[in-house]
Amino acid sequence: MYKVLSRFFTLLLVLVFFFLAGCTKGPPSQSTFMLGTVCTVNLYTQGSTALYSAIFSRLQAIEALMSATLTGSDVDLINQNAGREPVKVHEEVLEVLETAVQYAELSDGAFDPTVGPLVKLWDIGSETPELPSEAAIREALSHINWRNVFIDRAAGTVLLKHPGMVLDLGAIAKGYAADEAARILKEARIDGAIIDLGGNIFAFGAKEGDTVPWRIGVQNPLDERGTYIGVLTVQHKSIVTSGVYERYADINGVRYHHILSTKNGYPVDNSILSVTIVAASSMDADALSTTVFTLGYEKGAALLADLDKAEAIFVFTDKCIRLTKGAVPMFTLTNKEYRIVE
Ligand code: ADP
Ligand code: MG
Repeated sequence: MYKVLSRFFTLLLVLVFFFLAGCTKGPPSQSTFMLGTVCTVNLYTQGSTALYSAIFSRLQAIEALMSATLTGSDVDLINQNAGREPVKVHEEVLEVLETAVQYAELSDGAFDPTVGPLVKLWDIGSETPELPSEAAIREALSHINWRNVFIDRAAGTVLLKHPGMVLDLGAIAKGYAADEAARILKEARIDGAIIDLGGNIFAFGAKEGDTVPWRIGVQNPLDERGTYIGVLTVQHKSIVTSGVYERYADINGVRYHHILSTKNGYPVDNSILSVTIVAASSMDADALSTTVFTLGYEKGAALLADLDKAEAIFVFTDKCIRLTKGAVPMFTLTNKEYRIVE
């Protein structure tokens, strides 16, 4: 009898637990494959089907405008008309492209939104990646030059000056998308949420109704996904990483990653394994993670100091970590194999 009763109470407790959990939790986080990656939004207790669908429709609309691989996107139309005629594009595309061009200028072309011919040539995500020939690399490089992007604000058009030019906003569009998702959350007066567009994170507001900061893990570039070297403690900040481990192809036993040098046409090789940027704007964080990665530590850190709107965590091949001044109070090292150096 006692056993039966105790089972009954256990069952009752479990039921009560699920009932309470159901009341307080709201819909769980939602994930969809978009923008070439897995996009996850977690609204914790404040989720609703309507809000999730508003966010994901927004992300899809951005992809439909800015994808370089979707036929008929604004970026695709610009590419199809390279060397021919200006293309009328959506206001948002102008805004993102203008920002991309600014970062190209700031980095003297190390970051370049016209890197498309090289991205296509390497095709890092493909099933059967191949090492491009020197001649093909030289040919691709000859089409890359952000100075040949003509943006006419008044007319709302974009022209790529020469045939063979290809625009690719892959290093900045996800950041813009995360900012747009954050804008929707702000309008809905959400206190806290995590927007994660394939590692491009916006830690929105704070945890538990404005009180507790978010703790975001910084990926160990040399270990499995989800293994961290340390933790960033932040409130209402975007965190974006560019790393050698994000996308790569193994060709003849050599690993080639997806951030390409506009100087020599090969994956950038400069002893940086990853750069994590913390900033208020995710578009800045995204563009800067790639820009700083391509520039290398010295020039990258100098650019960050000049701009004074983003902090960074650099991880190097020798397992040293360097932090910008403002990143020091945010970052806690948890993996003892790594060490922070000045
Ligand atoms: P992820 O896409 O993994 O988040 P990034 O934000 O660093 O990483 O962007 C890498 C993407 O940016 C590449 O897949 C490619 O589309 C594009 N890209 C590669 N090299 C450059 C470069 N030198 N300048 C601008 N964009 C680049
Ligand atoms: Mg980027």
